[in-house]
Amino acid sequence: MRKVSLLIVIMLVSAQLIAQKTYIWCGTLIDGVSDEPKKNMTIVVEKNKISGIETGFSKAGANDRTIDLKSRTVTPGWIDMHVHLEEETNPNRYLQEFTMNPADYAFQSVKFSEITLMAGFTTVRDLGGTGVNISLRNAINKGLIKGPRIYTAGKAIATTGGHADPTNGYRADLMGDPGPDAAVANGPDECRKAVRQRYKEGSDLIKITATGGVLSVAKSASNPQFTEEEIKAIVETAKDYGFRVAVHAHGAEGMKRAIRAGVNSIEHGTYMDDEAIALFKQYGTWYVPTLTAGSSVADSAKKPGYYPDLVTPKALEIGPKIKATFAKAYKAGVKIAFGTDAGVYKHGMNWLEFGYMIEAGMKPMDAIKSATINAADLLGEKDKLGSIEANKVADIVAVDGDPLTDSKVFGKVVFVMKDGVVYKQ
Ligand SMILES: [Zn+2]
Repeated sequence: MRKVSLLIVIMLVSAQLIAQKTYIWCGTLIDGVSDEPKKNMTIVVEKNKISGIETGFSKAGANDRTIDLKSRTVTPGWIDMHVHLEEETNPNRYLQEFTMNPADYAFQSVKFSEITLMAGFTTVRDLGGTGVNISLRNAINKGLIKGPRIYTAGKAIATTGGHADPTNGYRADLMGDPGPDAAVANGPDECRKAVRQRYKEGSDLIKITATGGVLSVAKSASNPQFTEEEIKAIVETAKDYGFRVAVHAHGAEGMKRAIRAGVNSIEHGTYMDDEAIALFKQYGTWYVPTLTAGSSVADSAKKPGYYPDLVTPKALEIGPKIKATFAKAYKAGVKIAFGTDAGVYKHGMNWLEFGYMIEAGMKPMDAIKSATINAADLLGEKDKLGSIEANKVADIVAVDGDPLTDSKVFGKVVFVMKDGVVYKQ
């Protein structure tokens, strides 16, 4: 009896070991690199990698599995280059800074991560939180919870009173004087220390707030908040540690200082002028527009009492401007990567960005590339992510309909595979 059951166990284990392939039949395939979709294709997945792309619907072997998406449009998993997975907009957000413990942020971030993955976003950059976002990334990587692959900045770095100073708007006796440990830095030396501290904490990249912002309790949404010398110190140090640098900027002056200092991406970019556009092109800097956030903060600001008094006028002014900036930048040929600022609006609605980009004049195929191959390029992971090609990681989503003719289709995700594992079918 014992011998028989041992044999069964051995057979089961060896069946698992025979490399099982997955054949994904795609009615329409948008691969992230070609300008034209392809009809009737098969993606072959082995373990967590794409091993081949075949024309027609290939027949699977006896041990393999077939996933039938013949009536669907298949694309690479989408990448959102600007999210905040620790939190989500609500009228009590400012009070919650005093009532929520790190564990409260952690538990809600678990929910937001799963929603994001199920919406088709298999990779994200988390551009700032309390540091819980580092543990969140680790928990997802260990397979403890479901969520996108996260590249996290940990805490965003600001100057004193700047957009990401965590004590902005507090009562005087609670403000204290946070330093590089809390990601507040003044002068090149502290800037270098703030970058090194992020390395110590386990960040994947650096985020700084080069100008004022909308949601901080402070007067200006656009004034420059770092000197060019400080940003240079950050970029130089970041390079030593293999970090890329993402920069929050609404105002033109802060944006220009950051581009000249050699940062990798500008987020929001609201008051981008012609000189800034020329600099983007000269330095090859990426633009991450966050149109969804712009539209959402303007809507929320119309609800009485939703934001503090200092925030409301900024939200009403900045929100509607980003779309026109985006249209101009796209026309001028600035490199664009998809990013939404999820958390500033409801998680899982990231797909709305596609519609806003297309409304502002972007070709639907370019919008898809901005969220796939171009985002992967900005991450520095172009060899691994962002397209459906042999040897890439198997991050694959499918939608019900044609996203090239109807942007609402981006909200109809019916299939999600991340790293070769099916999360939604
Ligand atoms: Zn943000």
